[in-house]
This record gives sequence, structure tokens and C-alpha cells, in this order.
Amino acid sequence: MANCAYCGTSILFGGVSDGPRRYCNNDCHVAGYFVSLASQIPPAKLDEMVHATRVGQCPKCGKAGSPVDVYMAHRIWSALILTSWSSQPEVSCKSCATKRQLGAIAFSGTLGWWGFPWGLIGTPVQIIRNFSAMAAKPKRDSPLLRKHVQVVLGQRLAENLAMAESQQVQPAVPPPLP
Ligand SMILES: [Zn+2]
Ligand SMILES: [Zn+2]
Repeated sequence: MANCAYCGTSILFGGVSDGPRRYCNNDCHVAGYFVSLASQIPPAKLDEMVHATRVGQCPKCGKAGSPVDVYMAHRIWSALILTSWSSQPEVSCKSCATKRQLGAIAFSGTLGWWGFPWGLIGTPVQIIRNFSAMAAKPKRDSPLLRKHVQVVLGQRLAENLAMAESQQVQPAVPPPLP
């Protein structure tokens, strides 16, 4: 079974392929590109930014105090032979994440079962995934949060590059004097 090269979720079927890498969806694919751009950021600087994000305000509810991380919520819905799975990462505090995961359990428990065979097989899988995500203790070092920060930095770098190209800005280092 392949794992998403960005978020690490196991891909049961479907997904997006890019060379040897597979991603669960387009969002993860785009995020993977930004991460590769951010590889030029020094690791110490990155550590600092990851820590600041973790102890900072929740981007969803605006409160600080509950650790900010990338939390996953897993959903499934089915209609006869059609079954749709999704595992959505979201940056928030732990208490916002718990609410979202409870919502995903209610959603999947109501709408997941109605397909054969994948609805019957997949619904308990997604529900268990949510419960184990809720039970997991916040980690001190979260690879997903690190990736999220890399994505934000990579986006900034991409914007700067695009701006520099459109304005044809002079290079930052002046040419040596004759
Ligand atoms: Zn993914
Ligand atoms: Zn929150």
C-alpha cells in the first residue's frame, strides 16, 4: 500500500501520481511542491518557526494554549456501488481537531455504510482512524506541522520568485565594481 508523499496517509486506491511519488489528492500534490521549494531554508530557522506555530494561536478559533498541529479527520460516504473516502489534514488546536473528528465520526457513521462492499469495509476503518487520531497525545515533534510550515515558507518563496520575475527586480547582490 502506498503512502501519500505529503501527509503520509495510506492510499487505499486513487490518488495523484507524480513520478515515483503518490499523493492522496491535488492539495497534497501542490503542498509537496512547496515543501520541495522550502528545502533551502536552514533547519534551525525552520525549527524556530515550527515551535512558534505550535505554541501560537489556533488559526481556526484564535485561542492559544491548546497545541497547534496538523490534525487529520477521516470521512467516508457511500451510495450503492460508489464509496468516497477522504482524509483531510487541517491546522488547528487540539480542541478544534477533536470537534472536527467527532463530526467526521458522526458523518461516516451515518453515510458511510450504504455501499457494497467498500462502504461496509471502509466505514469502521475511517471511524477507528478518527478515534485513534483523537486519542493520540500531542507530539513534541510533529513531521506534519513541520511540513505545514515548509508549505507556508515555500508559498512565500514562490510568490517572491513570481514577483521578482514580473518586476524584473535587480539582483540582491550588486555586481562587483570594476
Ligand atoms: Zn496526502
Ligand atoms: Zn482552535
